[in-house]
Amino acid sequence: MTDQVLSYLEEHREKLLKRLNEFLEIPSVSTDRVHKQDVKAAADFVENYLNEIGFDHVEQQETGGHPLVYAEYNGAGSEVPTVLLYGHYDVQPVDPLHEWESKPFEPEIREGRLYARGASDDKGQVFMHLAVFEAFMKTKGKIPLNVKVCIEGEEEIGSENLYDILHSKKEQFAADFAVISDSGMVAKNQPTILYGLKGFTGIEVTVKGPDHDLHSGMYGGAIRNPIMALSHILASMKNEDEVITIDGFYEGVEDLTSEERKLIADIEGENYEQTTGVKETVSEKGYTEKEHTMARPTFEINGMYGGYQGEGSKTIIPSTATAKITCRLVPGQDPENIQNLLEEHIIQHAPKGITVHVKKERLSAKAYKVEPHHPLIQKAAKSYTKAFGKETVYVRMGGSIPVVEWIDDIFNIPIVLLGFGTPEDRLHSPNESFPLDSFDKGMETLVYYWQEVVNN
Ligand SMILES: [Zn+2]
Repeated sequence: MTDQVLSYLEEHREKLLKRLNEFLEIPSVSTDRVHKQDVKAAADFVENYLNEIGFDHVEQQETGGHPLVYAEYNGAGSEVPTVLLYGHYDVQPVDPLHEWESKPFEPEIREGRLYARGASDDKGQVFMHLAVFEAFMKTKGKIPLNVKVCIEGEEEIGSENLYDILHSKKEQFAADFAVISDSGMVAKNQPTILYGLKGFTGIEVTVKGPDHDLHSGMYGGAIRNPIMALSHILASMKNEDEVITIDGFYEGVEDLTSEERKLIADIEGENYEQTTGVKETVSEKGYTEKEHTMARPTFEINGMYGGYQGEGSKTIIPSTATAKITCRLVPGQDPENIQNLLEEHIIQHAPKGITVHVKKERLSAKAYKVEPHHPLIQKAAKSYTKAFGKETVYVRMGGSIPVVEWIDDIFNIPIVLLGFGTPEDRLHSPNESFPLDSFDKGMETLVYYWQEVVNN
């Protein structure tokens, strides 16, 4: 059923690569005002392509910042599902420029990789979707399912306006499921389904003692040292087994099933000594490092300051001490509730002679997870495996992707993260590239997937 579509992609490979290069040549750096017109030009590129493919309601939506390109395809009929496709056409800055082997906006192929800023993140992956839609339209006269396209230009500056747009235009963007291709596989040519992301939240705690720094000879023995007090409080929050000892912290966290532990065990682990220089690893008692990083919550002190920081010594009892704390969360944990638990714990464990002040960080996110055996995930895995000729692995990630949480929050639909990048792509760094293997097999995966989604 998909043979013609695949032949089209093969026959037109040169033409498609040339067109991708035109997309990559636009320096759509969203963070730099100098590039405002270039960012617009990249939006125009996406808009024109969607029009040419035959999408309806193609438009650039005002966001207050860079435009969002929206389009619909409704030609598949009301019997089949609608997918919301998210991606972004903006890119990261390129500096340091002298480290690039070829110019960032002059794409070049070397040893099977396409080098250019945005080749992997995310223009290359957005383009693959458009090319696959073109191939369906040109050969079948239709795309197997209905599509809503949302390609934004502000991802690299934190998607400042996206939540408000999706929220205020909920009806317009509504779909049965979402697909995002803005992530990677665990290794080149290793089909990977990313089915879970962590959430996060944070606080800043300041311990206040005397109203000014004191002479340690005159006051040591009578006045509590705020840095010491803060150290006691922090030490009471996680024990030596890496278990977080805050009352209620693990409440609602689901136990890992044996099925999931097996999925995690099947993933090749990281050589931490090589990647971090650390010889001995730690993980929560009862869990492996892989389980803890992917699927269990964490608690980290990100920074601490207070007292004298200069050269030599200064014999004082400092007046304040501060620590910045963030937690990565898993499904079942609510960021706001976790902030409250942290605050309660700190207040309860504050020794006398000092006061504590907790500031709750505004930016936080809930974790996201879709069941690995969900039919839409299974169909994605099947399509990957067929295209790449290798079993698909399932991973959860310790990081967070805000748009995933937002789509989950606003639409409450399954989100399929179909990434084709590789660990060697150097996202955000000089010499960003994307393997042509991923380009070819990735498009093949998408062809199978769109067909598979509508098959019963
Ligand atoms: Zn990206």
